[in-house]
Amino acid sequence: MCTALLLVPCQAAARERADVLIRHATLVDVQHSSVIADQAIAIEGDTIRALGPDRSLSLKYAAARTVDATGKFVMPGLWDMHVHFGGGQELIGENKALLPIYVAYGVTSVRDCAADISDSVIQWRSEVAAGSLVGPTIYTSGPKLEGYKPLWKGTIEVGTPAEVDAALDRLQAMKVDFVKITDNTLKPDIFEYAVKAAKTRGIKTSAHTPYAITIEQAARDGLGSVEHLDYLIKAGSPLEASIGANYVAGKLTYGEASDRFVETFDAGYAKGEYSRLKKLGIYVTPTLNMSRILAYLDRENHQGDPALALIGPGLRKTYEWRVERAAKSTPAQVDARHREYELSLKVLPMLRDAGIPILAGTDAGYLNSFNYPGQGLHDELQRYVEAGLTPREALASATITGPAFLGHSGRYGAIAQGKAADVLILDANPLKDINATRSIRGVVLHGKWLDRAALDKLLADAKAQVASWNERAAKDAR
Ligand SMILES: [Zn+2]
Repeated sequence: MCTALLLVPCQAAARERADVLIRHATLVDVQHSSVIADQAIAIEGDTIRALGPDRSLSLKYAAARTVDATGKFVMPGLWDMHVHFGGGQELIGENKALLPIYVAYGVTSVRDCAADISDSVIQWRSEVAAGSLVGPTIYTSGPKLEGYKPLWKGTIEVGTPAEVDAALDRLQAMKVDFVKITDNTLKPDIFEYAVKAAKTRGIKTSAHTPYAITIEQAARDGLGSVEHLDYLIKAGSPLEASIGANYVAGKLTYGEASDRFVETFDAGYAKGEYSRLKKLGIYVTPTLNMSRILAYLDRENHQGDPALALIGPGLRKTYEWRVERAAKSTPAQVDARHREYELSLKVLPMLRDAGIPILAGTDAGYLNSFNYPGQGLHDELQRYVEAGLTPREALASATITGPAFLGHSGRYGAIAQGKAADVLILDANPLKDINATRSIRGVVLHGKWLDRAALDKLLADAKAQVASWNERAAKDAR
């Protein structure tokens, strides 16, 4: 029985245990575009156990670690819905070293959109889930589906329905989170068969759609997400089908067809088409920052980018492919790329207006020059706001839409009871200025608290590792 004299210890004894208690936080509610001041958040294991006004909730919990978030803003961890781990078996170590970098930039989940080291990615997915590897939660497509002898390495080559069925069996055995399909050499009818077959099996798909098929047709087949905004420019051309047919007939090269989609884009037509696509339930990953970087390689020199210190020499070497390709461009091709990017900025708010869910994704990883893991997602969100999205819409694309696409909305997408304890603590309000997502004071990663010093150490360790790889590469070159 408690006496008045023992009141304080009695209350303490009645307190519930929490692993982490965040106090005096201003909660960012992305869904409702609002903030709630002076909240406490109790975290147990990898889950948010409770939250509420600090005055009452803080009395209910005794925590192993208390974090004072006075004057700080708390929001869900960020999702990068388009990354790649790849570049060959010899780059497995360099790819693995990217995982803590994502965390240091507040990215707590990534969707790996296929490459050539899937076995390693699937192993990391388990290790992160088990807590034995520091990294974002990984969702992966495993190896992607392509036609015979494609440009891309590490793909599953399919040319018949039976081969698609066998590939999907194999991917399901690997427990992939979705299926990625690209169009380099894949026959259009096999593309459509694969999308439909995956849908029948209840697996989400993500794709580069063959020019022979309209985006609306792919959406009718059940395609889950369109990767890269240029495919929505294609969908916004009233001549989409006939330009596609001319490409198939060999009357236009891929690049010429792509330019024709831009030239014939019609805002009035696109508006109607986007509302049809919205009804078909398709998602879009714009990868706008990547388009911007590639479009302006002619005038922006990235050789002095500080983030290069975090990229291993092997990965950095893969950057050269796009730089060399861009360097060979004619002035007309450079102009066309600029025009396409400028049009992309206009298309993004049209997609928003149509209600098409937007997935924030970077395309960071190998090959995609100067689009840096972690940092790139903040750049991507900045591009969205430059294009006319509100900060709230940009934040939703990186916190709410990703879990919704993958069917994990119950566990992610908000700071709420029962949700995953993937939490960012920021110095400023990201609903007012999207750049506030860069002002990270600390991250709760799967329930573990990492303060700024711990995040800086992840970056310092990654830099030291890259410096030693660079030294060795320089020695080998001598
Ligand atoms: Zn990609």
